[in-house]
Amino acid sequence: MMRSAAHHVRTRAEAIAVMMTMEQGKPLAESRLETLAAADTIEWFAEEARRTYGRVIPARADGVTQIVTREPVGIVAAFTPWNFPLNQAVRKVSAALAAGCSIILKDPEETPASCAALVQAFVDVGLPEGVLNLVFGVPGDVSSYLIAHPSVAKISFTGSTQVGKLLASMAGQHMKRATMELGGHAPAIVFADNDIPRAAKLLVAAKFRNAGQVCISPTRFLVEEKACEEFTRHFVDAARALETGDGLHRGVTMGPLANARRVDAMERLVADALGHGASIALGGKRPNRRGFFFEPTVLTNVSVDARIMNEEPFGPIAPIATFRSYDKVIAEANRLPVGLAAYAYTRDAATLGALSRDIESGMISLNHHGLGLPEAPFGGVKESGYGSEGGTEAMEAYLVTKFASQLT
Ligand code: NAD
Repeated sequence: MMRSAAHHVRTRAEAIAVMMTMEQGKPLAESRLETLAAADTIEWFAEEARRTYGRVIPARADGVTQIVTREPVGIVAAFTPWNFPLNQAVRKVSAALAAGCSIILKDPEETPASCAALVQAFVDVGLPEGVLNLVFGVPGDVSSYLIAHPSVAKISFTGSTQVGKLLASMAGQHMKRATMELGGHAPAIVFADNDIPRAAKLLVAAKFRNAGQVCISPTRFLVEEKACEEFTRHFVDAARALETGDGLHRGVTMGPLANARRVDAMERLVADALGHGASIALGGKRPNRRGFFFEPTVLTNVSVDARIMNEEPFGPIAPIATFRSYDKVIAEANRLPVGLAAYAYTRDAATLGALSRDIESGMISLNHHGLGLPEAPFGGVKESGYGSEGGTEAMEAYLVTKFASQLT
């Protein structure tokens, strides 16, 4: 059934992608990729369902058999946000179903249609009634009802750290398992020894994808002082080349933000950074057009006291700051209480190894951008949450371990 549902999502990809762009704003090419990636995720977990093995433990006494089995944890309540309407939901749905759990999905009120299309694909393959359930409503009302409900065994949430803490505490009150996929503020560290134009180009693509509304978006650009001028020049050129507009229009590479809240937040963050001595190298304001647009923005000389260096921007603003030594940049990378994703560019093999070890982050991608694959773990440390939404670890989250010892 999961394979057939993946097939439906793939064959309906164009229609789903158009809906997603209309309700969320991202360019159609990004919506297409997200939809096809959702189909891949369903298939990967369908395959992984065959590998939830237990084990036999050799016994100390004759005649005793000791068996470890993996059982589905039970009914799951999942809460997903608007930035990736399909992919935030499909990770939870696929892992839960592959583990044998029923799931109640509370989808975001901003982007209901594409998510509903995902659920429809499962309905159309004949998934038994009640196995996958979709609800919409006032988020606080739905979560307080479902988390406390005795039938619900597990909570999975993707969204802000603030809401995550609230839901995790409610899950704790009822001693329920929880996966928390929360915000980050990813350092992107650029050493002078690497190909600076290449790093700038790749980082612009990663930063402005989905207009910066990505939990693993590179958000604090820390550039070795002697390469900063060159990096900023190439970064600004690449950001200036972005075509902002209606995501359904050909050639548009950055759409509007998802809602008015984000545009207001961008204005406040820019004003605050300027107040702390930053300069605008590109953009910095809402363009004179209808819709929740904000210009691709690059800020330089950004002080660590500016809010943008402390709060996840979740929008198209790239603050650039400089560093002089490895130790100083690691201290800055680890300064915040969150740790979801991190990026670095260097040609030095010893530095690459040290970065993987020293950065406090659930995920790190070095010299390229390779996060978010179904087969790889996806999750954070510190206030970015706990649990993983990719790889074999994602299945663990929906399974309980049972031990049976038997004398025959
Ligand atoms: P928000 O915290 O108000 O909402 C985020 C999501 O949580 C929404 O889908 C919302 O429906 C849900 N939510 C809010 N209160 C809830 C509750 N009591 N129970 C259950 N669900 C609840 O944030 P927002 O204004 O939509 O976005 C602002 C910030 O949220 C962003 O700056 C970003 O840091 C974070 N965010 C993170 C992700 C992510 O992928 N980690 C996605 C979206 C938003």
